[in-house]
Amino acid sequence: MQDPRGSQKDAYALILEAIDSHVYKPGDRLVESELAERFGVSRTPIREALQRLETQSLLTRDGRSLIVASLDHSQLSELYVVRGELEGLAARLAARHATPEEIKVLRDLMKEDEKLVDDPKAMSRANRRFHKQIHLASHNRFLVQQLDLVHRSMALLATTSIAAEGRGHETLQEHEAIVKAIEAGDGDAAYQALRDHISEAYVTRLKLDARAVEAAE
Ligand SMILES: [Zn+2]
Repeated sequence: MQDPRGSQKDAYALILEAIDSHVYKPGDRLVESELAERFGVSRTPIREALQRLETQSLLTRDGRSLIVASLDHSQLSELYVVRGELEGLAARLAARHATPEEIKVLRDLMKEDEKLVDDPKAMSRANRRFHKQIHLASHNRFLVQQLDLVHRSMALLATTSIAAEGRGHETLQEHEAIVKAIEAGDGDAAYQALRDHISEAYVTRLKLDARAVEAAE
């Protein structure tokens, strides 16, 4: 049996996860009763979770309904600027503070990810894991919190840039450069490698969006 208090606490996490894994995509309408049924949670915690997500700008109002928010072109570029700097900072701090064990985890993750390179969805999750590990290796909890916020907003992007052709292999190479610099304790190089990586991801995303516009016309 599920602890009812536990499931109430989880309504927010459940909806967030569904947005994150694109069960609900930007523009999709979220209906309280449907969510309650899908997650087996009563309507009150669902309503509270929806309010919280709206406050956090992950949901937006369209008349009386709540829809999953989407990012416009300028918000996308604003998000990538913040992401590049914060991820770069995390890499710089990781180069200073990462323990040998944390570096080993990064190495092990990279080895596992090689097998996923042709599976965009799995690669996208693996990429998330890899970056989270660098955030943690920064040993700065405020930074980890800020990066969680940035990554939550990334959920509002309709596609993953890793899905683009060849991006999986490039991603692995770029990750290798980041870990090498962290391992060497070279903060500047780690910062730069991670900035470059995020910049490449942004370029890929812009190309994807341009193609989507083309296809829609
Ligand atoms: Zn990456």
